[in-house]
Amino acid sequence: MLYGGIELGGTKIICGYGDDECLLIDKTSIPTTRPEETLSKVKAYFLKNRVSSLGVASFGPIDLNQRSETYGYIITTPKPFWENTDVLSCFRDLDIPLGFDTDVNGACLGEVKYGAGRGLSNVIYGTIGTGIGFGVYLNDQLLHGLSHPETGHMLIQKHETDKEFHGPCPYHDNCLETLASGPSIEKRYGRKAQDLYENEKVWELESYYLAQAMVNCIAMYSPQKIILGGGVMHYQKLLELTRMKTKEYLNGYIKKEEILNHIDDYIVLPELQDDAGIIGAIELGKINM
Ligand code: ADP
Ligand code: ZN
Repeated sequence: MLYGGIELGGTKIICGYGDDECLLIDKTSIPTTRPEETLSKVKAYFLKNRVSSLGVASFGPIDLNQRSETYGYIITTPKPFWENTDVLSCFRDLDIPLGFDTDVNGACLGEVKYGAGRGLSNVIYGTIGTGIGFGVYLNDQLLHGLSHPETGHMLIQKHETDKEFHGPCPYHDNCLETLASGPSIEKRYGRKAQDLYENEKVWELESYYLAQAMVNCIAMYSPQKIILGGGVMHYQKLLELTRMKTKEYLNGYIKKEEILNHIDDYIVLPELQDDAGIIGAIELGKINM
């Protein structure tokens, strides 16, 4: 039996499938252009590769309320052409169980089932890339709510040297995403994050912001582990600085071994690496079988 998944991102869409033996047998990448064009290519992939369940992990905001008329839609994205796109309907005539969740909830589920969060009931997965988002798995299920968590837009404190900076989020001047995403690093320094490794100030500031987010996540959700993925986290030093500052800002308040003595095992990189998203998407379909 094959299980399919779609990781719907703002620049590319990954389609793939696995079976009971192998999590990911095949995956293919399709550029995200206009919805009709892109989704028809995705559909063609699953007409060729017939699967028994299909999970969709999508950028958003999306409608996750199964009783809503727009369930399965991408709602209010700034991405041109994609506002109010009915994603899930395209796949209903495949007549198989479908799953639908945010891209980060999908990746979080992937890591919980098969990666760094295995065996845990409370896990946060964050991506620090073009955008910033956190998937939240609490008490053995993915967290939804009024809509879904938008943890990337938590407000944080600007560094005193960064007060004049205005980042790319059109809604907030001091949300995490606007201060710490890949594009915000590029906007601030005029070069891409991967070309700034030698500039220590970049990573001091970046970790100042990420550590605030870590403290907020720990304070609010009490996760057993935090997994940080996305392009910007490819710089190993950033992870180390973020762990160190998280401990510093918590200031001994949470007296747990995991934080006080084992923070290297508490804030970690994804074990599924760049496949967390697609493997998680596949899992989103599987859990509805
Ligand atoms: P997306 O979020 O679009 O799915 P990524 O997670 O790769 O894609 O995030 C892209 C961002 O990550 C870009 O802003 C890019 O500059 C940054 N990035 C990519 N690779 C690296 C790297 N090796 N080190 C630091 N930053 C990186
Ligand atoms: Zn914002």
